[in-house]
Amino acid sequence: MPVCDHLPNSSKKFGSFSDYLNDEIIELLPEYESISTLIQQGQGFMQAEVHAVLDAKVSKHKTHKLPLVGLSFGSTNINAPAITFIGGIHGIERIGSQVILSYLHTLVSRAKWDNNFMRSLSHIRFNFLPVMNPVGMLLGTRSNGNGVDLMRNSPIDAQEKVPWFVGGQQLSRHLPWYRGNGSLEHENQLLVDFLKQECLHRPFNLVLDCHSGFGFRDRLWIPYAYRKRPPRTVANYFALYQLWQQTYPHNNYVFEPQSRHYTTHGDLWDHVGKIVKHEFNNPFLSLTLEMGSWNWVKKSPKQMFSYQGLFNPNVEHRWSRVQRSHLVLFDFMTQAVSNYANWLPTNQTKSDMRKAAVKQWYRAT
Ligand SMILES: [Zn+2]
Repeated sequence: MPVCDHLPNSSKKFGSFSDYLNDEIIELLPEYESISTLIQQGQGFMQAEVHAVLDAKVSKHKTHKLPLVGLSFGSTNINAPAITFIGGIHGIERIGSQVILSYLHTLVSRAKWDNNFMRSLSHIRFNFLPVMNPVGMLLGTRSNGNGVDLMRNSPIDAQEKVPWFVGGQQLSRHLPWYRGNGSLEHENQLLVDFLKQECLHRPFNLVLDCHSGFGFRDRLWIPYAYRKRPPRTVANYFALYQLWQQTYPHNNYVFEPQSRHYTTHGDLWDHVGKIVKHEFNNPFLSLTLEMGSWNWVKKSPKQMFSYQGLFNPNVEHRWSRVQRSHLVLFDFMTQAVSNYANWLPTNQTKSDMRKAAVKQWYRAT
């Protein structure tokens, strides 16, 4: 069993995750209890690190200290590719955190009995940042504790007309989709620093960032959001799309660029894409999983009257179905990352792949 050491740069300046847990916090954030259990079950195999401690002000006199935790395992060789699962960037979309914790639970369980899985870890690095915006999650808001929408906060302005408000606004932190004061919020800066330190120097990276709320279908979005043109890496995205369609032809996801629907200011993945281009230039794919929450509302119209209900399944059997329904996708992404050299376009195939992508996704625009 490959047991991984702590990474050389990891510090423990914020102590252990469990130092911050108490009954009140667990009641408000049951996801923390799941994380704590997984950390215990994954001892000797998984590293957990508290990257920051954030203040959640719940009343004039009461503030909770919330850890922002990352969990990692697999190869520590910098030549191994990495897959990074992110959840809860929008605090109200807690189902995003829960589905990746379900997958993590499966992997931690397999680590106890599945020799093939353990051997496969020498080819890949796994990272999980399951609750990226713990303050928003505790407060039940989309934004973070400063009222900033973390997906509208990067310094990139859209080159085309964005939808009013939804595309990002700088009028007030008390209104949704607020971009902030021009600097990266703490959570976003941490995420960028984490990717720079642990991922972007690797030969291949894939990030899957899990959200909910858009439409009736589950969508895999290429989060290239500041313009409607194809990203420079579109051939790589198209190769992954083709691989997914060929391997799981009956899948029910819509795999497409976000910009087919709308563009936005300040998308964090646009910002990371620019960093990769200027500082690293290794293949880097980011995808957002947008779980279509309107179906849950359609099946339980009462959910419409609950803000939580607009973004999360409220009924137990529907919640369970969502938990299991993405595991095939997550496993596929993991295998695709491990075996990236077998499908990533080469210099010879890139141009054809790009043409196919433009035909499939951009012809109308
Ligand atoms: Zn979201």
